[in-house]
Amino acid sequence: MAFSAFQPFDSLPFSQGKVEPEALFKLSYGLFVLTARENGADNGCIINTVTQLTVDPVTFSIAVNKANLTHDMIARTGAFNVSVLTCSAPFDLFREFGFQSGRTVDKFAKSRTAGREVRTQNGIRYVESYANAVLSGTVRASVDCGTHTLFLADVTEARVLSNEASVTYQDYFDHIKPKPEPKKKKGYVCKICGYVYEGEELPPDFVCPICKHGASDFEAL
Ligand code: FE
Repeated sequence: MAFSAFQPFDSLPFSQGKVEPEALFKLSYGLFVLTARENGADNGCIINTVTQLTVDPVTFSIAVNKANLTHDMIARTGAFNVSVLTCSAPFDLFREFGFQSGRTVDKFAKSRTAGREVRTQNGIRYVESYANAVLSGTVRASVDCGTHTLFLADVTEARVLSNEASVTYQDYFDHIKPKPEPKKKKGYVCKICGYVYEGEELPPDFVCPICKHGASDFEAL
């Protein structure tokens, strides 16, 4: 399979309409813990971009932010696991895997202390609690998409862990993420993780230091 790098058109061959960021939030997404292993070290992050592509053979894709350590580990090792999160996944789990970096924190330290080190055949960790399935992937091709890389992978293992319903990104916003406290301060809040930027103007190139989402995912307090 050959894929060329992601290059936006210099000039679009059709006229540009209005782009409402909220329209993109109408797309349905799940939430997943993406894990990788390199040189004996385990790491993981949260993603919402897992899609099955084909049935025979079973292939799927993940899009991963290049700022994440897990991205680099997958780019180098070509292997990963996806744990499909359920509706009972608590905010703490998202904070643990999504709002800190594996460059400074060992995200699996707690489960190791608890003596629970579950792995698939590829040797990579997965999340057992609050997950209803685990899929193992071996990268077949990758596409450079600017801020993210799209990895296309073969499924090398797939197991059901429970029959609880999968959580959606909408569930996360409606029921899992704590509601922000009303504040009188001037600033902007990240709609994804709740990080607050204090100041009159949010720089257009601002990137959330917690979840790496851009200025378009912030709203005024
Ligand atoms: Fe954020």
